[in-house]
Amino acid sequence: MSISKNIQNFLLSDAVERFLRYVKIWTTSDIKSASFPSTENQLELGKLLSNELEDLGLENVVHDKFGYVYANLPPSKGFENVSQIGFIAHLDTSQAVSGKDVKPVIHKNYDGNEILFSQNEDISLSIADSPQLGEYIGLDIITSQGDTLLGADNKAGVAEIMAACAGWKKFPELKHGPITICFTPDEEIGRGTRKIKKKLLPKFCYTLDGSEMGQLAIECFDAWGATIKFKGLNVHPGTAKNLMINAIHIASRYLSELPEAESPEHTEEREGFYHLMNLEGNEEEATATLILRDFESKNNQNRMNYLENLKKLYELRYPGLKIEANFLHQYQNMLTFLETEQKAIDLAKKAIELTDLEVKTHSIRGGTDGTKLSEKGIPTPNIFAGGMLVHSRKEYIPTLALQKASEVILNLAELWTI
Ligand SMILES: [Zn+2]
Repeated sequence: MSISKNIQNFLLSDAVERFLRYVKIWTTSDIKSASFPSTENQLELGKLLSNELEDLGLENVVHDKFGYVYANLPPSKGFENVSQIGFIAHLDTSQAVSGKDVKPVIHKNYDGNEILFSQNEDISLSIADSPQLGEYIGLDIITSQGDTLLGADNKAGVAEIMAACAGWKKFPELKHGPITICFTPDEEIGRGTRKIKKKLLPKFCYTLDGSEMGQLAIECFDAWGATIKFKGLNVHPGTAKNLMINAIHIASRYLSELPEAESPEHTEEREGFYHLMNLEGNEEEATATLILRDFESKNNQNRMNYLENLKKLYELRYPGLKIEANFLHQYQNMLTFLETEQKAIDLAKKAIELTDLEVKTHSIRGGTDGTKLSEKGIPTPNIFAGGMLVHSRKEYIPTLALQKASEVILNLAELWTI
């Protein structure tokens, strides 16, 4: 089983053409917005995609008022009984950098030198910024003009899924079972699955939202939020001796006892951390907000025990002080839900290998739509989409990644029929 040169060429030109079109549509999401989707512009891309899915012969195409797009591809003849699978990508782009008026530029046959940006002389893109760029010498690289992000996160995923649909229509010899396509709004602000209709999705899905070519992620952080409230006692500072319990000052001492090595700025790969995000208050009362992250849930339990023990110690050290520690589980390492889905993961690995890429299993130092979906009972590992240095004006993608990810989708669908 392999994809012919003819189909590969089609996927490359189709996915690139779509990608260049989709990135020009402004779909930045907005965490401050209370509406759903958070920005109207996301509806514009969703509408376009639902029309294109209908033109490509997909059925039951839905573009709902929340901005979600759902569509079904009927199975090829003889594969009606194959399990249904889904492919998911998100419509929005990050607020970190402007996503308005993106003008993509193709740098043909990349020569290994610095890439310069016509609309921003202050930045350049080099192998020092992204070592993978060294592996992409000779390929065509797409960037923005340096004044916006590119939007490969996640319009690369959208274009790859759409190119696969175009491939299934044009080359009926490609075998597949029933397939569901879903595009989600507001992933970047953590709301991507909030209004998703589970009943429109199959029992198993894949997101196309990873970065480097070859990547497959089946693991993400186990995530906790912690709120620690210090209740002290304020007295006039001139007569405070043996009376004042200065909540904010004690809080800062308490927080200085967290191991410095376990912070985001000192950890990478599989190392977890405490991250203090906010400290506010006064002598009477102070509140610290933290997040705890690790791939092993027992390490996060140990961090919570440490915070609890420190609380007891500080209440002894400062009689009259009261500390309340509250912990909230935010999301779970999706590996917990994927461990029993070895077949689906093996098929994804095989589909990547069939495109002549090395499989790079990857642990996401964060969460994705797939994390939340896995918790909701739909196991959803994450496949590469190809965008690099995402959420940045230096964001780039090799055109080959757009082709390869589309190939992975076609391979994966065929592998499920065997
Ligand atoms: Zn993304």
